[in-house]
Amino acid sequence: HADIAMYRAKKLGRNNFQFYTPAMNEESLERVRIESALRNALVRNEFVLHYQPQVDLQTGRIVGMEALIRWKHPELGMVPPTRFIGVAEDTGLIVPIGAWVMRTACAQNKAWQDAGLGHLRVAVNLSARQFSATELLPSIEQVLEDTGLDPSCLELELTESLFMSDVTPAVDLLHRMKSLGVKLSIDDFGTGYSSFSYLSRFPIDVLKIDRSFVNDITIDANDAAIVASIIALAHNLRLSVIAEGVETAEQLDYLRHQGCDEMQGYYFSRPLPAHEFEQLLRQRRGLGAPEDEPQVQVA
Ligand code: C2E
Ligand code: MG
Ligand code: MG
Ligand code: MG
Repeated sequence: HADIAMYRAKKLGRNNFQFYTPAMNEESLERVRIESALRNALVRNEFVLHYQPQVDLQTGRIVGMEALIRWKHPELGMVPPTRFIGVAEDTGLIVPIGAWVMRTACAQNKAWQDAGLGHLRVAVNLSARQFSATELLPSIEQVLEDTGLDPSCLELELTESLFMSDVTPAVDLLHRMKSLGVKLSIDDFGTGYSSFSYLSRFPIDVLKIDRSFVNDITIDANDAAIVASIIALAHNLRLSVIAEGVETAEQLDYLRHQGCDEMQGYYFSRPLPAHEFEQLLRQRRGLGAPEDEPQVQVA
């Protein structure tokens, strides 16, 4: 849309720029700028992954991590994923970028496992757009083979929109993914066009409660009820459930009382660069005495 707007504006002449609000123009320009820079970002090695720990609420131990992409552009600076993932999806660039994320995250997790830092899971976000690419399944298989990562240590995060879009994957594609041994989760659960029917039709393992619900659980009775219901729904369907965006001890306490399985959020840790995440694993897991394991403090 950005290029069309620019083209029209050019064609109509300078004076017609007034039809576009400054905000719109700036947004279109930023999109165009991001799109062209994005084309070179992979070859220029401008992406990095940060890792956010996921903690088991029963034991307090780190049991996994979510890989989150970061883009360090020499002129644009640090571009957050919320500003470029959409452009990457629209241009199809998400396919090679997503493949890089998958390979990097799996290789990193395997390296940490080989270093004795634990048999952790790594979760990777998948865009709906990646499902329309025929190479998705073989490329996951290839990455698992090349890195030697135990498939059960890879989790693929899908969003509800996937099940409502025109690229809704055939049930059997997800079953074939499952048969590789990987885990499937639904990210941002509760924010999409929620349809419970896909939960029974698709082989899902984990629900991730969106942080917009978690945010207000201690001040908004409705959000508290929604979160409690999602946890019950997950467990009734024999799924595991993880809360995203946990920032306070009070939120954690509530989630624990409701029997939520895992949490992820700033309260425990922000997403960290690989070397810092590794330090966290080394410090906390150290020589392996149970008291040295990372514990989430609860009042
Ligand atoms: P997401 O998959 O739902 O990831 C969780 C987001 O919540 C991350 O934002 C994370 O930094 C943030 N977060 C975690 N804990 C807290 C907390 O306690 N408080 C607050 N306020 N935020 C918290 P981030 O890293 O900016 O990523 C935003 C979104 O970009 C992700 O949401 C995901 O949809 C997308 N994304 C990130 N990396 C990738 C990727 O490699 N591939 C694809 N397709 N999408 C990605
Ligand atoms: Mg996610
Ligand atoms: Mg999420
Ligand atoms: Mg998301």
